[in-house]
Amino acid sequence: MKNAIAIAVFGFFAFLLTAQQGTAAELKSVRFGPESGKTRVVFDIVGAPAYALSGDELGNGRLFVDFKGLSIPPTALALQPAMGHVANYQFVKNGENGMRAVLTLKKTAKIGEYFVIEPTAKVANHRLVIDLLKGDKAAFIASIPAQYPDLGPVIEQATAVGAADVAPKPAVQREVAAPPAKRVIVVAAGHGGKDPGAVGQGGTLEKTVTLKASKALKEILEKTGRYDVVLTHNADNDPRLIPNQAKELARRESLARNANAALFISLHADALERKDVRGGSVYTLSDKGTERSAKVAKTEGNYTVYQLDTREFKDNEYVGDMLFDIAQGKTNSASSQFAAKLLKKLAGKTPLLNKSHRKADLRVLLAPDVPAVLFEMAYISNTEDEANLNSAAWRKRTMGAVASAIDEYFEENQQQYAQTGGAGGN
Ligand SMILES: [Zn+2]
Repeated sequence: MKNAIAIAVFGFFAFLLTAQQGTAAELKSVRFGPESGKTRVVFDIVGAPAYALSGDELGNGRLFVDFKGLSIPPTALALQPAMGHVANYQFVKNGENGMRAVLTLKKTAKIGEYFVIEPTAKVANHRLVIDLLKGDKAAFIASIPAQYPDLGPVIEQATAVGAADVAPKPAVQREVAAPPAKRVIVVAAGHGGKDPGAVGQGGTLEKTVTLKASKALKEILEKTGRYDVVLTHNADNDPRLIPNQAKELARRESLARNANAALFISLHADALERKDVRGGSVYTLSDKGTERSAKVAKTEGNYTVYQLDTREFKDNEYVGDMLFDIAQGKTNSASSQFAAKLLKKLAGKTPLLNKSHRKADLRVLLAPDVPAVLFEMAYISNTEDEANLNSAAWRKRTMGAVASAIDEYFEENQQQYAQTGGAGGN
């Protein structure tokens, strides 16, 4: 892991340097060299490649190579069939002039070393070499380089005065300790601003109790030092709130994606004509919602799936659909997993409805690539629940349960990878 990070730093520098030079690169070919226990993937490129490696961190064995300013002439697309550890691969557009190579690995592969070979007297091309080695699911996840936005501190450490005290090794192999990355959680307080939401018998506004709850959850989560919490709004007069409801919901979705959120939690309070009904419930996306999400993504084309803008797929429907389906399937099962955990933690802390895990077509849950749940904390239309929603002690207890569900969800996911290795899949 440490090696992988050090090498990622190297990759990051390559990305920076060549991007600054502004050189446009052109792909000549992609080659595969299966050897015993290793598959060497070589991208032949004219011009220095600006690239970055990343991967599907849920362990589905997808490796992404993002190139900046790479053109791919039709001749380069007479691609060699995938071999060795690579099941298949293709290129998709990524941003304005970027390309992403998506390599689907066989389940037993992990990323080994990767580096660029400069042109020589005999070979005019740059060669980006990625070695794939035998490894299980856990090993694959561990081998994924840290994402570049997280690399700032790593680079700082690697280049800090005193770093040279560490045994002098070639730069690429120097080991640096990565600071633990904080997970980003987006918490959306339901309603707000001109939209009050439901109103309790005692006059409590839903937007008031959801905002208070979101702030309480943020405080608890950030105290652990493991999370960065992004709130959709910090106050009822937050200038970011958009009066148009559809636009506001769209803003919340894109907030979750742009923040690179690991989890999206929406907080609400329910209301019914029947005042005796009380208790919380948790919603995740239904199949109907999934269909709608897919439809919206294709028609509006404004979703980012695996950091790829679906608008880029207009001419390549197959790739767009494929990535979208994969992302959607992944996030739905992750959302359901978290919902189950949340209900378990809430039990005994606050009243819950009998059938408390609902599946619903709720617009707020439609972001296709971020696991999302909607927590109806209680019925604001029930006087006891309304009192709870206004109680600081209840809020602390209930949001504490939410925080511990979040902790357990992430802990368990990591353990699961380590235990099941490559055997599982999903
Ligand atoms: Zn609501």
